[in-house]
Amino acid sequence: AYAYDEECDYLFKAVLIGDSAVGKSNLLSRFSKNEFRLDSKPTIGVEFAYRNVRVGDKLIKAQIWDTAGQERFRAITSSYYRGALGALLVYDITRRATFDNVKKWLQELKEFGCSEMVVVLVGNKSDLGHSREVDEEEGKNVAVSDGLCFMETSALDNVNVEEAFLGMINKIHQMTT
Ligand code: GDP
Ligand code: MG
Repeated sequence: AYAYDEECDYLFKAVLIGDSAVGKSNLLSRFSKNEFRLDSKPTIGVEFAYRNVRVGDKLIKAQIWDTAGQERFRAITSSYYRGALGALLVYDITRRATFDNVKKWLQELKEFGCSEMVVVLVGNKSDLGHSREVDEEEGKNVAVSDGLCFMETSALDNVNVEEAFLGMINKIHQMTT
């Protein structure tokens, strides 16, 4: 038996970046499988996941790459970024250090990413408002000054996860057609 795969019109590659334990893998598993894990497994194991998305009359296959834990060792290589048209740059709203490092990740995107990349800045774990260390306004301000899209998400509660990924995919589609 063969797995049936719908014929798609476009294949887009996008990457997840950001510090360790900000929720990248859970955002991806939420988006691709509607799953969430409470235990932190730095390497869930997949290199990437797919989801087919319909935009207008076109079917887009979004291939989203996850780091499998390399970000811990600053070992993300240029091949990770190669061909990527979009990036979700994730920080954790309860850990300011992960927000401070957004600058470092933007630097890396400039160095390795394609110049037209669609970047969405994502403040994850919005369900943990009681231990918030980064105001929503601060995230917005960075996004505005760097020309990024911005969204706060919760992979746990499934808030804005679709919006973040689909927003990126729609923008890539607009850009390439
Ligand atoms: P990664 O290292 O960036 O891939 O982060 P993970 O996806 O492995 O998540 C790290 C930890 O944060 C895990 O314990 C997750 O259960 C937890 N986590 C991820 N997203 C959320 C979220 O939206 N809310 C809460 N409360 N915890 C989250
Ligand atoms: Mg991970």
